[in-house]
Amino acid sequence: MNVKVKPQLLSLKAYAPGKSSEEVQREYGLEKIVKLASNENPYGTSPRVSEAISEIDDFAIYPDGAAAALRTAVAKYTGVKEDQLIFSSGLDELIQIISKALLDENSNTVMASGTFPQYRHNAVVQNAEIREVPLQDGCHDLQAMANEIDDKTRVVWICNPNNPTGTYVNDKELEQFLQSVPSHVLVVMDEAYYEYATAEDYPETIPLLGRYDNLMVLRTFSKAFGLAAFRIGYGIGAASFIKQLEVVRLPFNTSMLAQKAAIAALKDLDFVEKSVSLNALELQKFYGICKRHEIDYYPSQGNFIFISIPGKESVEVFQYLLERGFTVRPFPNGVRITIGTKEENSELFELVEKMVLVAH
Ligand SMILES: *Cc1c(COP(=O)(O)O)cnc(C)c1O
Repeated sequence: MNVKVKPQLLSLKAYAPGKSSEEVQREYGLEKIVKLASNENPYGTSPRVSEAISEIDDFAIYPDGAAAALRTAVAKYTGVKEDQLIFSSGLDELIQIISKALLDENSNTVMASGTFPQYRHNAVVQNAEIREVPLQDGCHDLQAMANEIDDKTRVVWICNPNNPTGTYVNDKELEQFLQSVPSHVLVVMDEAYYEYATAEDYPETIPLLGRYDNLMVLRTFSKAFGLAAFRIGYGIGAASFIKQLEVVRLPFNTSMLAQKAAIAALKDLDFVEKSVSLNALELQKFYGICKRHEIDYYPSQGNFIFISIPGKESVEVFQYLLERGFTVRPFPNGVRITIGTKEENSELFELVEKMVLVAH
């Protein structure tokens, strides 16, 4: 093969989705698999969504590239102007759009190490210099991140709450940080789990947009709204900046199905509210199990928890749960587990307790 890709791509791997539930089921002879590896909504999706998409009867026409109807609905939901919104095929695509528009080999970008991997991945593709700042106790170290900013910095990424740790930057810390960031630097707040956050001092960033036109907020329908299969997310920022980002967006990047599904999901906020309050309840139970068995964990503002069992390697924990029908996400220093339903969790807690007792 003599065709040559850009040299920086050689250091990257394509996203590996892990084994499918069917594969795991076959391999270990299991009756069922509980997927707690990707932070999907364990309660599924609002029934309004399947109703809405079953009414679509014309597949031969292109979707609305401007997503006008969804734009109106999201503007209302978020309380922003329609021209402050950009839609994407999930936040994964929006991270790519931002990176394409702002990063090149003459620039740098600042992010945490131990955060959502797509920021780094896209920065490598754009050949930008990457300045990674280690998490402190699972949290973004905003002071150290601010110190990395210089004339060539184009984007700072803050994942709030952070995936995989579930920790968050609070309102005071964020304001202080924003005040210290020069206006030529875009600050991206990835709020994929916004709806799940319950802390009183979790920052409301939309009101800050009026004061910081270098701020951008990312939200998705993949998590609390339960629409991961449709691939639909959005960004909110200064209208003049959004207009520039639109240049790199594909003309028809969100499908008609995704737009209709998201509009229907916004009509059933009760579903989201229920998902969120059940999540908070189950999280509390998880904390209880962790405390009882001296398992290390970070309190979480998302629908997942990062734990580490003393005396156990995370791959062991991952493998133990996998063979018993639970898929979770392993990291070097722990595993990230999506908060499932009550029934799923009670089974999981039993397994975790058994594992801990064997470890001691
Ligand atoms: C899940 C997730 C995303 C990507 O979500 P999409 O399905 O692409 O909208 C982005 N950021 C974080 C932190 C996530 O956890």
